[in-house]
Amino acid sequence: MSSDCIFCMIGVGSIKSEILYNNDTCFVIRDIDPKAPIHLLVIPYKHFGDLTNLTSDFYETLCDIFEAMKNMALQMQIKDTGYRIVINQGSNAGQQVEHLHVHMLAGKPLSTMG
Ligand code: 5GP
Ligand code: ZN
Repeated sequence: MSSDCIFCMIGVGSIKSEILYNNDTCFVIRDIDPKAPIHLLVIPYKHFGDLTNLTSDFYETLCDIFEAMKNMALQMQIKDTGYRIVINQGSNAGQQVEHLHVHMLAGKPLSTMG
């Protein structure tokens, strides 16, 4: 837990946010500033930072992130129409929150990446 991290605070419930799904290691909320009709954030409870510093203690969470994404694809009925998953790492990627999280974007045809 990082005391000044918004996602840590949502994870422990000190900042209220509707939790759409959770498992042992991660939870899912809607992005506060959606970039698509469906814009979800899959967030580990534990504060993982820089992707390049991850070690084997992340493996269980990694599996649970994919489990969460699978469940959200079914719950949001986007399994067949498709969705994009994105991790922003660092300033050139536009990362705003330095607590590892995965974006799920869906609900319309998405522009090509660049
Ligand atoms: P990043 O740019 O770090 O990959 O993504 C951070 C995302 O978190 C942004 O899309 C931003 O809109 C979202 N966000 C920032 N603060 C909050 C918050 O307090 N609640 C929610 N639900 N989303 C947030
Ligand atoms: Zn955090």
